[in-house]
Amino acid sequence: MKVAVFNTKSYDQQFLETTNQKYHHELRFFTPNLTLDTAILADGFSAVCVFINDNLNRELIAKLASQGIKLIATRSAGFNHIDLAATKEAGITVVRVPAYSPYAVAEHAVGLILTLNRKIHRAYNRVRDDNFSLEGLLGFDLHGATVGIVGTGKIGQCFASIMKGFGCHLLAYDVYQNPGCLELGVKYCEFLELLAQSDIVSLHCPLTPETHHLINPTSLTHLKRGAMLINTSRGGLIDTAAVISAIKTGQIGYLGIDVYEREENLFFEDLSDTVIQDDVFQLLQSFPNVVITAHQAFFTRNALENIAETTLNNITEFEQGKQCLNIVTAS
Ligand code: NAD
Repeated sequence: MKVAVFNTKSYDQQFLETTNQKYHHELRFFTPNLTLDTAILADGFSAVCVFINDNLNRELIAKLASQGIKLIATRSAGFNHIDLAATKEAGITVVRVPAYSPYAVAEHAVGLILTLNRKIHRAYNRVRDDNFSLEGLLGFDLHGATVGIVGTGKIGQCFASIMKGFGCHLLAYDVYQNPGCLELGVKYCEFLELLAQSDIVSLHCPLTPETHHLINPTSLTHLKRGAMLINTSRGGLIDTAAVISAIKTGQIGYLGIDVYEREENLFFEDLSDTVIQDDVFQLLQSFPNVVITAHQAFFTRNALENIAETTLNNITEFEQGKQCLNIVTAS
């Protein structure tokens, strides 16, 4: 199939090209995001392949349909960047990669916890500056700490399993109880109780209208004072302004985020030579007890191999008219 691959970095091209040796699709790689202005590049193609910061709104979808695009293949699990009602009306099929490596994201969440707790980000800079003082670097044992997991799906379960290995007590909140988590000894409770009991709260649920700003001024009053908050899921789960206030009062003791509400204007690009206009993000960066990574939790070799494999297989199944399990439909 002729596929216009948008928003590609060197690593996307590398993994897709290698995997495509067995699929033989005609892939053309474009660096820019897919927008109304760049959609013209997809002229003559049957499919577009996109990523989470390509905003496929109604207008763009109508344009793609008019160009003869039949398939949108997103190289992500999440699909909140695609207007599914509009794709349905336009007769365009959407496929995604529902799972590629829950370990990658869970392990990154643990990385943020260890960094924040033992202040590795600060220690690294100190030692490079020949400052060997330990003042301000005091941490706590993870063994015996209570960890609250919000969303115990694939990633939440992996995370639970790792934290069990540290000897943590595990609490969870989810709309469904995962038998695998129950086996690990996870105790399910209400969301506000989880906030009140946990030394570390880690978010692993999807962004939906129900979970938007799950962490807000009201829920934050229930958080154990000085607790650590980790978000590797989606930026919109957190009301960032409320979190900044809670960091200032000490209600939140540590914040580790891999995702940010307005990340589409920042993440995945080298902006080191520009003046960042997002004051909220810059303020967050200024706190010593905040660690931010730029949506890299998924970024392992294993995950990229799986993303390439599933994406190209999705395209093949669509092309051959086979039933594809990874089609996304508006609910
Ligand atoms: P999953 O579908 O396996 O699990 C999600 C869990 O959230 C399910 O158990 C579901 O019941 C639960 N849930 C849904 N609505 C809820 C609610 N209102 N309250 C509490 N729990 C609720 O998904 P997953 O593969 O574990 O991924 C979880 C999230 O991680 C994704 O939605 C995505 O946003 C994020 N993610 C981030 C990265 C990254 O690189 N940072 C990569 C992949 C996924």
